[in-house]
Amino acid sequence: MARYTGAVCKLCRREGKKLFLKGGRCYTNKCALERRSYAPGQHGQGRKKVSEYGMQLREKQKARRYYGLLESQFHKYFLMAAQKQGVTGENLLRICESRLDNVVYLLGWADSRAEARQFVTHGHYCVNGKKVDIPSYLVKAGDVVSIKEKSAQSDSFKNILEANGSRPVPTWLDVNREAATAKVVNLPERDQIEAPVEEHLIVEYYSK
Ligand code: SF4
Repeated sequence: MARYTGAVCKLCRREGKKLFLKGGRCYTNKCALERRSYAPGQHGQGRKKVSEYGMQLREKQKARRYYGLLESQFHKYFLMAAQKQGVTGENLLRICESRLDNVVYLLGWADSRAEARQFVTHGHYCVNGKKVDIPSYLVKAGDVVSIKEKSAQSDSFKNILEANGSRPVPTWLDVNREAATAKVVNLPERDQIEAPVEEHLIVEYYSK
């Protein structure tokens, strides 16, 4: 699958928000956005008047970049969200949150969502005891996600788990750090989702 391979810190600087795309570095004072809190490029520091459409576009791009999704996949999720009962914007974020690559990142089983996606495709995780190597797999309430036993015993995973052991895990995931398993208690409500986006602007963008 095609993916963005450029400098990820530029994406945060473009959106003016920390999107936590680079693992441990994002939590240190080496964060590029903290050092240069303006958009990249020659005109990055110029003042810009943003139109209503521009705001909606930026919000959509921010969410897409936060979850590391291509436009086609993100738009597909919007269409899925619009068909579900409830608030479309919240449905959209709930779908993005329940992707397997996002879940293992939230659990601290990978340093970033990009790394989580790679680890999923390499078959390091299971859902309900069965290996799942599809990053876009959507977990459901009651699912049990785990690290494959052999992978959990490797030095690289031990280091990752140790480094991320103190990272807070959202309350919709009940993690057992010793056993390297986690149960999906429920799919998240909006107040359990930390994505720094105003989802109603995304709905307005796609509803034009
Ligand atoms: Fe974004 Fe992390 Fe880079 Fe900071 S270090 S700009 S949060 S990707």
